[in-house]
Amino acid sequence: MMIKKFFYKYILKRKYFRYGSCKRCGACCTKIYVSHKKDVIKTEEEFLKLKKIHPFYTYLTMIDKDENGLVFKCNKFDSEKRICTIHKIRPLICRKYPDEIIFKMGASMAENCGFYFKPIDNFKEILLKQMKRNQ
Ligand code: SF4
Ligand code: SF4
Repeated sequence: MMIKKFFYKYILKRKYFRYGSCKRCGACCTKIYVSHKKDVIKTEEEFLKLKKIHPFYTYLTMIDKDENGLVFKCNKFDSEKRICTIHKIRPLICRKYPDEIIFKMGASMAENCGFYFKPIDNFKEILLKQMKRNQ
């Protein structure tokens, strides 16, 4: 087994490899859902409580509410220059975006993001494992 595959699968416990790069479109900074305890938050009361927990939430302004929950934009995003104004000290969640862990928390990829994911185990490997289990 490749060292990279072993490391991702058994040390980091990942199911996907990430490929691509950031196109600096800013989509992930201007349409943000906030997840807490695996659910996207849906009320302003919930959000006010979260603001006391982590400074990142104080950067956010609510801009909409849709079928998923509240939608925010980050005040640290400069929409003219299309850059994060606190890039060097941006929070860990921003540094890691997009990370498969955030999908487990209910988040989804921003549309047209320059990153994409591929399963670490391809379909053939999964099928072989399943067949062995069934023997
Ligand atoms: S959505 Fe993807 S490509 Fe666009 S800024 Fe965020 S990480 Fe970069
Ligand atoms: S802190 Fe920077 S990278 Fe993080 S959401 Fe705000 S603008 Fe985007």
